[in-house]
Amino acid sequence: MAHPAGSAPRAQVVIIGCGFGGLEATKALCDAPVDITLVDRTNHHLFQPLLYQVATAGLSAPAIAAPVRHLFRKQANVTSLLAEVASIDPVQRVVHTTDDGTLPYDHLIVAAGATHSYFGRDEWARFAPGLKTLDDAFEIRRRVLLAFESAEKERDPQRRADWLTFVVIGGGPTGVEMAGTLAEIARQTLPGEFRRIDPAQARILLLEGSPRVLQAMPEDLSEKAARQLRKLGVEVRTGSRVTSIDAHGLDVTPAEGAPYRLASRCVIWAAGVAASPLGRRLAEATGAQVDRAGRVTVEPDLSLPGHPEISVVGDLAAARSHVPGKEPAPVPGVSPAAKQMGRAAATNIVRRLRGEPTEPFRYRDYGNLATIGRNAGVVDLTTPFGRVKFSGYPAWLFWLFAHVYFLIGFRNRIVVLFDWASAYWSRQRYARVVTDIEPAPTDG
Ligand SMILES: Cc1cc2nc3c(=O)[nH]c(=O)nc-3n(C[C@H](O)[C@H](O)[C@H](O)COP(=O)(O)OP(=O)(O)OC[C@H]3O[C@@H](n4cnc5c(N)ncnc54)[C@H](O)[C@@H]3O)c2cc1C
Repeated sequence: MAHPAGSAPRAQVVIIGCGFGGLEATKALCDAPVDITLVDRTNHHLFQPLLYQVATAGLSAPAIAAPVRHLFRKQANVTSLLAEVASIDPVQRVVHTTDDGTLPYDHLIVAAGATHSYFGRDEWARFAPGLKTLDDAFEIRRRVLLAFESAEKERDPQRRADWLTFVVIGGGPTGVEMAGTLAEIARQTLPGEFRRIDPAQARILLLEGSPRVLQAMPEDLSEKAARQLRKLGVEVRTGSRVTSIDAHGLDVTPAEGAPYRLASRCVIWAAGVAASPLGRRLAEATGAQVDRAGRVTVEPDLSLPGHPEISVVGDLAAARSHVPGKEPAPVPGVSPAAKQMGRAAATNIVRRLRGEPTEPFRYRDYGNLATIGRNAGVVDLTTPFGRVKFSGYPAWLFWLFAHVYFLIGFRNRIVVLFDWASAYWSRQRYARVVTDIEPAPTDG
């Protein structure tokens, strides 16, 4: 990188991933005397908390994604590259990309996030897609809409019922939001548009292995969420472990009673999360440890042991929050944590450049929220005055405005507000165009 004659070369910072962690780290280094190379394998920053809205045809992709290059057009110290990182050489201090690119660094922030995990049963991925990227959302939307189309064409009542049985596996926020919205599509959006089937007769099942949905929430809010889901017509089955999935359905072992089979042609996976594979490769190269989910164990200041020039942030980091006078506590894999870690890693780079000691990471937890279809939700907030919990319509409104507020870009906020307002009054979901009409995978 060019620098004025006589001046010291500027430190080279490479940031891998422009999700929540990488985006915040890059922004936080805006005025720092560094040159940043921001590398991501997609050309957009994705607002994952609203991805289920694309998967359920409520929003179109550009409403929740923003081009990385556009986001940093005014930040002169950022070069944005579209490339997939293959490996990191901590000895030469170089990042290698799959297109044979090499990116030398003085400081490296790794923010490559997470992916879904099928707990060692990767063959299930074909039959039960997970939700992590825009492509995943398009695939789920395609399968959901084409299941109704196939049911309309099917003459055999049993096979028609199979097409109209939708199963969501995993009762975390994504599973709850998906199941609630699927019920809404079946009961409120599609009726009146089909002639041979009644979409309102569709079954939506939410399977959760543990005893309750929304485990991260207090027990009373979990119960309220389950009640709100049932009111929408979702069959909530907790304590239900999935033991196999194929093209025609899945096998379930309940906590009590005999194992059973569920016939379904549309299964959605919202159950497991594992760190990006880049984490293990980085750990092998640096001697760092990974936990069971493949997250890299970091020092209190988010750097790697023996490598103060490498920081890992966001979903890829097994980090702890360091509050003076308290035991270090694990940091959850949520977007506010990724953002805070990104900012903390950037601040520590600046401190190192100034020759100052780095600071331990401290996570500020503002609480949890989830929405359950139209007009219902649960909110558990941590405020300076204590914990505030509420549910139902006020929680749904709070969820709505919080998500619009945190969306990237003024245009996206307006588009999302407009689309939601129009969907609210019309009960329609407009992003329903599909181009590939092969409805579901076969066993072959
Ligand atoms: C469907 C869904 C719903 C969610 N809902 C919520 C919610 O309601 N509230 C909440 O707080 N959190 C939610 N989360 C979690 C939240 O999105 C994550 O905690 C957050 O995105 C983590 O940020 P990150 O920067 O670590 O990773 P990410 O945001 O996942 O970003 C990682 C980036 O790295 C890039 N990348 C990965 N590997 C490579 C590579 N090898 N080379 C180059 N680039 C690479 C990816 O393309 C991506 O842009 C949700 C997640 C999902 C999937």
